[in-house]
Amino acid sequence: MLPRRLALVTPPRPGETFGSWVDRMARVNRCPPAEVADLMGLRLRGASGEVRPPVFGVQSDEAVRHTVYAATGISGGLVDGMHLSVFDGGPLSVAAVLSTAKAHLPSTGREWVEVYGSRACPHCLLVSGGVWQLWWKLSCAAVCPEHQVMLLDRCPSCGGVLRWGGNRPRVVPAQWVRPPTCCANSVRGRPCSQWFPAIRARRAHDRTVEAQRRWLDIAFGRARPVLGGVDVPTSEWFAAFRACVILLRLGLPRALGCLPGVPVWCGRVLLAERGERGLHRSQFGWGPASAEAAAAFLAVVMPLLATANVRELSRRLAPLVRTAVDEGCLAARPLARLAVPEVFAEAVAAQVPVGRSARSPWRKGGSW
Ligand SMILES: [Zn+2]
Ligand SMILES: [Zn+2]
Repeated sequence: MLPRRLALVTPPRPGETFGSWVDRMARVNRCPPAEVADLMGLRLRGASGEVRPPVFGVQSDEAVRHTVYAATGISGGLVDGMHLSVFDGGPLSVAAVLSTAKAHLPSTGREWVEVYGSRACPHCLLVSGGVWQLWWKLSCAAVCPEHQVMLLDRCPSCGGVLRWGGNRPRVVPAQWVRPPTCCANSVRGRPCSQWFPAIRARRAHDRTVEAQRRWLDIAFGRARPVLGGVDVPTSEWFAAFRACVILLRLGLPRALGCLPGVPVWCGRVLLAERGERGLHRSQFGWGPASAEAAAAFLAVVMPLLATANVRELSRRLAPLVRTAVDEGCLAARPLARLAVPEVFAEAVAAQVPVGRSARSPWRKGGSW
């Protein structure tokens, strides 16, 4: 049965994530988000952290679009636009996100996204009155291009991932009305009261702001993805970006000395991040572990990919490829799994030294 139309509706804002809108709907209706989700026919009640519906906020379907429209008059198109599926075929593969979410407890960064938590710009939250942007969930969300500050990762009061919910999180809070500018993670059964706009965000480096802007333009389809002067499919451009992140992790710390002009802070942050990801080699293919790490990867990798032709691309990738060959890890599995564009595979292969037994991870049957 379709739900009845709610009397009070606040429309979603541009770029807002679905959970944020449900929270703001709860706020205007003065009831807990779980209740408003019920009134909207979303059927989330009682879902705990371990059995969260894996699709909440990832991809909507006909049933969700229908019920939300009946309850709020908000169109299916707007509802779709609040889901991570917006980034499918770009920085994310929705199929991969869904299958990981079903198979495991949601874990930070495996699919380069934080399905339940988020990063955040405290200035944006203040200005918008608590509108959480969808792209803040992406593992490469590092800085706010508008306010030029580092995004927050964790709540300074409770130490939790923002919007995660707490130790035993639920999809949406069942008991309390969460002001959308506050943390409200559950700490020993009570909502954390940290007000995010009060947190002083660190200023971002110009280089990172520029890199983030460019990365977002490609993610949102505002800029054509080009690699070595060749137009490439968006998903392949992001595969090449991921490949560079993995190569960089594999080559640390030596790669830092071979790459020209890497700022000191980047080196420090990347080494610390490798300490975290490197504990389990299987995590080498995961997304940046923090906003700071994302900033460092953007600052180092984006200039490598911004080249006019294949030869230049190959030359810039040389330090990464050669260190990986020396370390004997060019054939690492997370690399081979990535569907990189041919121009990128070619640029990498050209830097594998002749006479070495190393092979490019994307080399097909010795065609080149
Ligand atoms: Zn901002
Ligand atoms: Zn908190």
